Amino acid sequence: MAIDAQTMQAAANRQNVYAISLLSGRIFAGLGVWHQILPRIATFTQIVLSDGDRARRVTLQPADLGGQEELNHLGYVAEHQPILEALHAEFCDRETMTLIAPAQVDQVIHHADHTELILELDGQTRTITTQLVVAADGARSQLRQATGIRQTGWKYWQSCVTFKVKARPSQRSHQTSHQTSHQNIAYEKFRTQGPFAILPLTGDRCNVVWTLPHAEAQAVMALEEEAFNEAMREHFGDHMGDLEIVSPRRLFPVQLMQSQHYVAPRFALAGDAAHCCHPVGGQGVNLGIRDAAALAEVLGDAFRAGEDLGSIAVLKRYERWRLWENWVVLGFTDSLDRLFSNEIGPLVLVRQLGFWGLTAIAPLRRLALQLMTGGLGRQPQISQVRRSKACTNATL
Ligand SMILES: Cc1cc2nc3c(=O)[nH]c(=O)nc-3n(C[C@H](O)[C@H](O)[C@H](O)COP(=O)(O)OP(=O)(O)OC[C@H]3O[C@@H](n4cnc5c(N)ncnc54)[C@H](O)[C@@H]3O)c2cc1C
Repeated sequence: MAIDAQTMQAAANRQNVYAISLLSGRIFAGLGVWHQILPRIATFTQIVLSDGDRARRVTLQPADLGGQEELNHLGYVAEHQPILEALHAEFCDRETMTLIAPAQVDQVIHHADHTELILELDGQTRTITTQLVVAADGARSQLRQATGIRQTGWKYWQSCVTFKVKARPSQRSHQTSHQTSHQNIAYEKFRTQGPFAILPLTGDRCNVVWTLPHAEAQAVMALEEEAFNEAMREHFGDHMGDLEIVSPRRLFPVQLMQSQHYVAPRFALAGDAAHCCHPVGGQGVNLGIRDAAALAEVLGDAFRAGEDLGSIAVLKRYERWRLWENWVVLGFTDSLDRLFSNEIGPLVLVRQLGFWGLTAIAPLRRLALQLMTGGLGRQPQISQVRRSKACTNATL
């Protein structure tokens, strides 16, 4: 049974855009939903990294992963809707699943052998009794707080301004229907104020995540359209020619947060309820997808062994698997942001060395890419399963 405070329509209308890792693609393939998602999202074939206006750039390509599979891309960029719709359809197809939405969980009461959820449904208070609650209720998780699980972390001095752009038709007139102005390249442009990311989308659009100190982000949000375009173009560059902005601007404050525990008796945290990271590198939702796959695997094994799924002994296996793997990604994204968001002499030298290393040392490029694509750490078994005809090596 799943419970969500939003209607499915409201959930599908969320305007979020995510870089989706190769591993998340494999997990969706294992679930049997990838063939529905893949045609509706973009793939990127290269990642270009740059440091301010310095000349050295690093281009990461599929061959840098050095695997045995023939791969022609490094990841995907998805809007919220195709993913949610595919998962929702799959969920509703299964007779054993029930979705209760919109319903707000107000309280969680833990007992030794069961847990009660008190929720608000159709203006009435209902109680659900269960053996295990998995809280994936976002960064401000009410259920995490009610269970008394503490968290560590900090709020960044930065916020992210996000919006979508599209190449103007004049720019596209000479292209065939398969060509795109963005050429399926993802850019991470590190600037002193914060990273400026450009992610290719379907329909010759791109999603921009522009990280700035809070006051500057507020100022950018308040700019008139023309001034905003001009400021944006300075960072975006001219590789897509003339651009139009095709979505409202949205502002997100960002934080690093890690829960001290992911589990308690009859209770587990997953996704942003368990951890949040800086958006640089596009890892957040991928960590949540990996949490879900890991938890399902642990619970599946415990079920087959006849164990109590809500027991702390079973749930700790999930925590041991995911807590430290998530720390690695939280640390990686935090270091990236701090290393590049300044002009302190020795740090500039370190990152220039890093750029040189990434250009010259193939194993370093491979390691960085493995981290970004989900290739490091324990791989959930579901990511090895191919349930969909459309999921060949070439698409994964
Ligand atoms: C600017 C920006 C860019 C990002 N870019 C990327 C990217 O490129 N790639 C990437 O992987 N990640 C990215 N992220 C991170 C990503 O957006 C988050 O990690 C992800 O949305 C978290 O998903 P979640 O389902 O865990 O939590 P949420 O999206 O917060 O969902 C929580 C759900 O719980 C429900 N809920 C909450 N409280 C209750 C309650 N009491 N009762 C019932 N239901 C409840 C809500 O209705 C909601 O559906 C980005 C984040 C930001 C800010």
